Amino acid sequence: MKPSLFNQTPDELSAVLSDLGEPSYRGEQILDWLWRKRTSSIDEMSNLPARLRDQLKASFSLQSLSPTRAQGSSDSTRKFLFRLHDGRYVETVLIPASPALFGERSDRRTLCVSSQVGCAFGCKFCASGLDGFTRNLSADEIAGQVLLAEELSKEKVNNIVFMGMGEPLANMTQLLRALDLITAPWGLGIGARHITVSTSGLVPQIRKLADHPQQIRLAISLHGASDEVRSQIMPINQRWPVSKLFEVLKYWATRKAQKITLEYILIDGLNADASQAHLLARRAQSLNAKVNLIPYNTVEGLLWKRPSEDACSAFRDVLTEYGVPATLRLEKGHDIDAACGQLRLKEEESAKGLQA
Ligand code: SAH
Ligand code: SF4
Repeated sequence: MKPSLFNQTPDELSAVLSDLGEPSYRGEQILDWLWRKRTSSIDEMSNLPARLRDQLKASFSLQSLSPTRAQGSSDSTRKFLFRLHDGRYVETVLIPASPALFGERSDRRTLCVSSQVGCAFGCKFCASGLDGFTRNLSADEIAGQVLLAEELSKEKVNNIVFMGMGEPLANMTQLLRALDLITAPWGLGIGARHITVSTSGLVPQIRKLADHPQQIRLAISLHGASDEVRSQIMPINQRWPVSKLFEVLKYWATRKAQKITLEYILIDGLNADASQAHLLARRAQSLNAKVNLIPYNTVEGLLWKRPSEDACSAFRDVLTEYGVPATLRLEKGHDIDAACGQLRLKEEESAKGLQA
């Protein structure tokens, strides 16, 4: 498989062009074809000499992923399933205005992107890890989800959350490169403040990202306020317990201006009682963080269920009493398997069915 031209930074492109004896302005022309004109073929790059187009075609591909199907939902969330060059699938979800979840503005179009195929972390609520980990996505496959979603929806994406399939901080090299492609003025030009990386809590990688100069936002999949509860939900808690996680989050808060978001799925009989609410409130207070409460979305093959609406509201009210900004997420896309990983599993099962 040839590398994608979309995965080249300007410096790398310059090096390729200088090896070919081409002037450096060709690099700008190529970037313009890729990211502005969004061409789908090297042959279309009509201001490049034919010889150079042939040389580029010999070494590079253009297509990172291709559309398979899109599902709409009644609340206008759109879920895309994209096929990768090796026949794997990733999911990308376009969420129109979602002020309760992502802040003040109501004209935001948020794209939820995947960073890996599958996931190795095996959180017990999550469909992405059910089949284990398959592979990392390359940076062009991450940024390509934005390009393709914009092409299919004919809408400009202005907010990105890494909350699709996979653990972005376990794919750090490609994540950092993808952040370059997404934020660069020659690339997608989306400001770092409009990008949220969500992690299950890989402490050393959080520290590394805290020191990264871009002011990206951080969301933590917390889902339990004590080790006892969190360990039942997220195996990673055995490696990086809550105390270690909050230590590095305090460090993060000294390095970045934006509030950290703590994500907390409410699961009946497990993490949704008053004592967890009080503990969570104190922990959020200590970080000056905000909390997103998400009623558990049923996943086929997993046993849990969501608490009643009253129980969810009561949990939120405890946070509010402590002055912690908390949203109880009005489920978007519940009717289209929007919990991450669910659509891909269905597609792969039907693919297996066809082979059998
Ligand atoms: N690996 C990263 C990014 C994936 S985002 C991380 O864990 O943070 C994972 C998020 O998707 C969860 O925190 C939760 O907000 C949401 N999610 C996954 N499965 C869900 C389910 N069954 N019900 C509700 N939300 C779910
Ligand atoms: Fe992986 Fe995140 Fe799902 Fe946990 S929640 S299994 S880390 S994708």
